[in-house]
Formats: sequence, structure tokens, C-alpha cells
Amino acid sequence: MKLLVTGGCGFIGSNFVRLHLEKNPQDELVNLDKLTYAGRKENLADIEGNKNYTFVQGDICSRKDVAKAMQDCEAVINFAAETHVDRSIEESGAFLQTNFVGVKVLLDQAKEQNVKKFIQISTDEVYGQVVEGSSGESDRLDPRNPYSAAKAAGELLAMSYFTTYNLPVVVTRSSNNYGPFQFPEKVIPLFITNLIRGKKVPLYGEGKNIRDWLYVADNCEAIEAILQKGKAGEVYNVGGNEELQNIELTKKILAELGKGEEMIQRVTDRLGHDLRYSLDCGKIEKELGWKAKTAFEKGLKETVEWYKKNENWWKEMVKE
Ligand code: NAD
Repeated sequence: MKLLVTGGCGFIGSNFVRLHLEKNPQDELVNLDKLTYAGRKENLADIEGNKNYTFVQGDICSRKDVAKAMQDCEAVINFAAETHVDRSIEESGAFLQTNFVGVKVLLDQAKEQNVKKFIQISTDEVYGQVVEGSSGESDRLDPRNPYSAAKAAGELLAMSYFTTYNLPVVVTRSSNNYGPFQFPEKVIPLFITNLIRGKKVPLYGEGKNIRDWLYVADNCEAIEAILQKGKAGEVYNVGGNEELQNIELTKKILAELGKGEEMIQRVTDRLGHDLRYSLDCGKIEKELGWKAKTAFEKGLKETVEWYKKNENWWKEMVKE
């Protein structure tokens, strides 16, 4: 199979590209990435010499770049996105452009080429906050920040191409990923890299917000299962079954790095901060036989080890 991955130089994309080529060495994989601040070609330095891997620097919003990269591809997995909620609250233009218009450009090209599978990587944030219970795939979408609104728009457009043109679209909605190669603006790598440098960790408000944590390798396995067996026109929730309040998460990171609670610095809460996301993952478990394997304690240990060993990777990205 020849596969187009977009955003493959980012966090989840680079983990996926590595896993896919390891498991499917006969497949050809093209990675189209704009290399924004969040994307680094070096994230895949170890596979650059692989003859089945091609990197194309380009923008998913450009028809020309997309047509070139998607040539002869049978499947497309769209990871490319602007992803940081705080940045979207400051300015949402790039979020709408990439997370919505970019998806349209990809869909149009996929339709023209009769692509056999189009996987749109979405997020649990499209459900909005879930104070009680867990979100099922047919629940109403209620995105509450510009990032998640743009992601919801992107996945709805993708699904409309299934209904209207019969393009075989599948959507995944995953919870918060963590693991190697995550840009240190996101909470887990931010806290780890701060603590390694002897800096305090900024905790929003009381730290009562709850997120579910999914080890990135588990998410990549889920996407792999969806690529092989996922049904066109379907949405799959992908969660780690590891819900934690932010304060609990912070304490676990502190403990892993041997630091005390005096390293916590309370900061003003994020505007419109969703209290909780929670996914019901029964569908993917039952239909595709996928379940998250990595317990949070184990995944966190491995992640901390990776950031300790790879200071060269992150030290230029941290602000001060
Ligand atoms: P990331 O920010 O680490 O990487 C995004 C990648 O997309 C970068 O390599 C960047 O250069 C590239 N990119 C951005 N705009 C582009 C454009 N216009 N054209 C081509 N490439 C472009 O993101 P991530 O955390 O790896 O997330 C990947 C996907 O998974 C996103 O769609 C995100 O919404 C989704 N997701 C992420 C999480 C998470 O916890 N990280 C959770 C749920 C869903």
C-alpha cells in the first residue's frame, strides 16, 4: 500500500510513521508536513534512509502541495493540525485555516483520486466538557474553544464527503496523548522539562480539571487497527482509561522526578477551561479488538526517561 501521512513530523505523526514502517516494511509512506514550530524533520531522522519513506515539505492548504504528495496514494491519514488550545485562544486564524480549510483540500484531492481510506484524526475535545458519564460516538458535539471548534468543523466536513460523495472517511477521536517527541508546550513535557531544569511547574487554577491520558504508542496501534479494519463512515473514540485531575497528574510527575509540591506554581486558569473530558471506548474495543495497553505509571516513567535522555532534542524549544 502507498500511504500519505500529513503532519508526520509532529508528535503523534512521527510516532505513527515509525510504527507503521516497522510493522509494514513493504508499504510506501509519504509524509507531507509544513514544518511549523511544532514539526521537526529530525523527529524521523532514524528512518530518513528508508527507501520506502518520502518526506515532502508542504502545506495541506495548498492544492499543489497536496496533489504532489498524494499522487498514487491509496490511503490518507491526516494528523496535520494546529494543536495548542492556548495558542488558539490568543489567535485562531491558523487553526481555522489548517484544521478546516486544509481538511477540505485533502478531501477534494482524495475524492479526485478515489482514495480507498481517509482517516481524519480528531479529538475528544469536540464533545466539550463532560461533567458526568462518558461520551459515546453518537453524542452531540459541543466544542468550547477555537481549537476544538476548528477540529469539529474539520471532522464534520470529512464525514460530509462520506455521505455526499461516498469517500471512505473514518474519524478517530482520541484523548490526551503523551510520550516521546511531544513539543514541550503541552502539559506533560512542559512539566518534565521544567523540573529537569529546576524550574517550577505552572498549574492552572485549582488543578481540578480532569483529562484522560493515552500513551502515544497505544494511539498509534489504534490508528493502525482503524487503517486495517475501520469501517467507512464510522467514528471511533480512542482513550487510555486513565482519567486524572490535573493536580493528581502534577503530583505523579513531581514524584517521578523526585521533586516536592513546593515546585508547583499556581497560575490564572485558562479561559473557558473545560472541566472534564471522558470517552466511552466500547465501540473500538468490541468492533476492532483494540484496547489501550500502557498503564499511566509505566507510560509516564518511559516518557520521563526519554526527556532525560534527549535533552538535546528539547533544549532549544524551551523558552527560558
Ligand atoms: P503536533 O502539533 O505535535 O504536530 C502537528 C504537525 O502538523 C507538525 O508536524 C506541523 O508541522 C504539521 N502541520 C501543521 N500545520 C500544517 C499544514 N498546514 N500543512 C502541513 N503540515 C502542518 O500535533 P500532535 O499532538 O501530534 O497532534 C496530531 C493530530 O492529533 C492533530 O490533528 C491533533 O488535533 C490530534 N490530536 C492530538 C492529541 C494530543 O494529545 N496531542 C489528542 C487528540 C487529537
